[in-house]
Amino acid sequence: MRSRLSRLPTLALLAIITAGALTPATVVARNADAPNGRIPHSYKPAVKPSMALEGAVEAKDDAEDGGPAGPVDRQTLSIGRGDTLMDLLATAKVPTNDAHDAVAALREVYNPRRLQVGQHVTVLFEPRRGGSRKFVGFEFAPDPLRSVSIARKGETGFTSSQTEKPVTRKPVAAQGVIRSSLFEAGAQAGVPISVMMAFIQNFSYDVDFQRDLQPGDHFEILYEKLVTAEGTQAGEGELLYASLTLSGDDMPIYRFKTRDGRIDYYNGDGESIRRALLRTPIDGARITSGFGMRHHPILGFSKMHKGVDFGAPTGTPIYAAGRGTIEMAERSSSYGNYVRIRHNTEISTAYAHMSRFAKSIQRGARVDQGDIIGYVGTTGRSTGPHLHYEVLKAGHQVNPRSVDLPTGEKLEGRELQAFQQARRSIEKMFDDSRGGMQLARTPAPAPAEEKGCNKASSC
Ligand SMILES: [Zn+2]
Repeated sequence: MRSRLSRLPTLALLAIITAGALTPATVVARNADAPNGRIPHSYKPAVKPSMALEGAVEAKDDAEDGGPAGPVDRQTLSIGRGDTLMDLLATAKVPTNDAHDAVAALREVYNPRRLQVGQHVTVLFEPRRGGSRKFVGFEFAPDPLRSVSIARKGETGFTSSQTEKPVTRKPVAAQGVIRSSLFEAGAQAGVPISVMMAFIQNFSYDVDFQRDLQPGDHFEILYEKLVTAEGTQAGEGELLYASLTLSGDDMPIYRFKTRDGRIDYYNGDGESIRRALLRTPIDGARITSGFGMRHHPILGFSKMHKGVDFGAPTGTPIYAAGRGTIEMAERSSSYGNYVRIRHNTEISTAYAHMSRFAKSIQRGARVDQGDIIGYVGTTGRSTGPHLHYEVLKAGHQVNPRSVDLPTGEKLEGRELQAFQQARRSIEKMFDDSRGGMQLARTPAPAPAEEKGCNKASSC
């Protein structure tokens, strides 16, 4: 869950978040030599004196200067626009051969192309008795949690290592009332975007984010915030618990790791939340106005409209509702750009009006649940950007609600007991963390808009 998204500016204006007790620190140290997060710079002192030449032109054969003459000299530079790491090392007057070897060693743990403009890199030199200095390595921190280090090994080679700082996982509880969209309510409760994305993704099996949400529905969430020993926030950890209350119905989900190491979310009874088909086969976060879309509350979509429409901006990713094989990916006059996926001998799903297909989506291709198959558009007979989604049973459109395909995974026996214990400790953590937390207040809903095709029988 920790991702670039966590670097986005926080949207919390009315953050009603309280932090709970500290959990034991989780220490991640990939480098066995550096259990404390310190970067080792182990290199052998030179044994042979070298020609006492200046900095850049020092010889590898440094026999004449008789060894190190003081502490390592650290020179910090930053990557300029259009510069490579080699350019930076050249600026620091690192001999070209050494720079090549050091960058080659870096590739073992980090792709130098991923270095961003402005990234600080500290270049290390060892002063020599003759007044010269010897390049002994460099180091940088690509993110608040990680340090990458290159050190001289022997006389010619370099070795690379990567160290992760120990972090504390701090549970954070938040809750909010949905006024116009879940995503917005999450932002107003101060929930980081990456956490909200995970929340929406996990509820996409059960919730149709366009139709199921009502103003006044609410949610609770418990997630981890990563904090380093120095107190620096280093992004988000896992989503531990979430509950969505729709028209008074609570739907809690809990993160749990089974004995064989699989991590998944389960409802209160220990049933996997996964379904063979997603209820919301679209980036749910992009459905901005979920209310006022129900034009036929009685007829629904079963008679007149043989599918479900999800209004979302052009370009919104559309997901394969389930694993299957692409049966059709073509353009028609009414459906526009249309994809149909066969999931088993009986069930298919279809997606219409796409602006374009995703790469490699063509007849015969295999897709997994959640793969992007195309993007929202308004091609074909359509009045505005939306996804028209159909579930077909033996070739006939059916109400997607009538097709519930649970994966059937349910925890049992000792696994279920372990889950119930984990669930209780998560609930306690939530209660502890929300001490003094108030319900986030969100502004009044914007007037509901009518969008997309909801009237025609073949939109
Ligand atoms: Zn439609």
